Amino acid sequence: MPTDPAIAPHQSSASLNRSAQASLESLYFADTRRWVVAFSGGKDSTVVLQLVFEMLVELGDKAKKPVVVLSSDTRVEAPNVAAYVTDALEKVEESARALRIPLSTRLVEPSASESFWGKLIGKGYPPPSRWFRWCTSNMKIRPSRRAIDKITRAHGSVILLLGSRITESTQRGRTMQERSINSRGLNPHHEIPNALVATPIAEWTTDDVWEYLVNNPCPWGGNHGFLLSLYRQAGGGECPVVFDLNTPSCGGSRFGCWTCTVVKEDKSLQGFIRSGEDHLQPLVDFRNWLVGLRDEPGYRSHVRRNGNAGPGPFLPAARQEILESVLALEERMGFPLITDEELAYIQTEWSAEFDYQNQIAVRIAAKHGRMITVSDATGKDNSFAEHEMVEAAALEAGIDPDLLRQALDIRRKEFPSLDKWGAKTGFERALGDLVKKAAHQAEQTPPQ
Ligand code: SF4
Repeated sequence: MPTDPAIAPHQSSASLNRSAQASLESLYFADTRRWVVAFSGGKDSTVVLQLVFEMLVELGDKAKKPVVVLSSDTRVEAPNVAAYVTDALEKVEESARALRIPLSTRLVEPSASESFWGKLIGKGYPPPSRWFRWCTSNMKIRPSRRAIDKITRAHGSVILLLGSRITESTQRGRTMQERSINSRGLNPHHEIPNALVATPIAEWTTDDVWEYLVNNPCPWGGNHGFLLSLYRQAGGGECPVVFDLNTPSCGGSRFGCWTCTVVKEDKSLQGFIRSGEDHLQPLVDFRNWLVGLRDEPGYRSHVRRNGNAGPGPFLPAARQEILESVLALEERMGFPLITDEELAYIQTEWSAEFDYQNQIAVRIAAKHGRMITVSDATGKDNSFAEHEMVEAAALEAGIDPDLLRQALDIRRKEFPSLDKWGAKTGFERALGDLVKKAAHQAEQTPPQ
């Protein structure tokens, strides 16, 4: 396995492990806040989950405070990675029950209106790009936020345990070091109210992580061999499964959505195919076809949704062609790619926009053996009406919705009144910093 840049571990792996366990234990008893372990299935979050799991087993009856293991599935994850994560969660849940430790798992997913197919085919969004990355906030951040908000509403506040490490990347290290940390090593989450973040393996190097995983079998059964092989197949290196509540972007990661059009090529799928998983090749071909459609003038409206000239949403015929292709691909692959709820949502959106007979998506689905009723549609989620409005405005202006959302958040939280002395200058400066950060992030993402 590749190593981190030349940063010598200042403690041996065994002592790092011991000190992580000791500080986790003292954190666990320090207050009554619920714990949420963000588990992506990647190596770093696996270590954190294992440390927590082992601590709870060791504490036995003394462990009373519930811990939730939270994972997200975009519904367009690489199929073998998605299967691995689902299986791991089932094993964790079963073992926790058998061992009587207060740990449960939760897998969150985007709603039909937030999903990749809902946005792309239903609404006609162009496939996400580094400049218009609508996918991360819809498919990852919002479903996770909903789950965490539910816990904080019921229990006041939570501690989020993340597998972030200083040496993971220069950018990540800088961000972690810039955060203000309290005496217990916690820092407030910059977006989630009432959430404190703990990073128990912040000081670990990549070698420490692999050494731990190789030497410590899964306490929930099996070993980490499959995880290692996933990394090897995906090309090795730093390639965490994407799940990061702190960072609203994940393009460039090697384990991500198989449909990802933000990165130049899907390295994980290519790696899996090179390792013999040839059956995944049609997914790569489909994804490449989608990339081409983005810039195909005949497929996009020449008018934006606000009436201005410019590349707008996919035209109805293009959306129908994409839906046909997804369903044909699904038949070819032999496993589900699109849900009934997504199909019904697509019909609902088309009915509102151009299909006044309310039948085109239903008919296309039926041709491929998928019988749907439009009442299956989850429709729009009214509690997130503002989110939809911000996204529509960003789409019309051709800017990243996350950027607009963050700007509105800053205005609301930090500068509620611009009449105060210095508020306008402060807000301008904050906006400038935000735009610079977004430009930097976009530069870091491999270009198309
Ligand atoms: S992996 Fe790609 S498509 Fe999936 S959420 Fe991240 S950037 Fe978007």
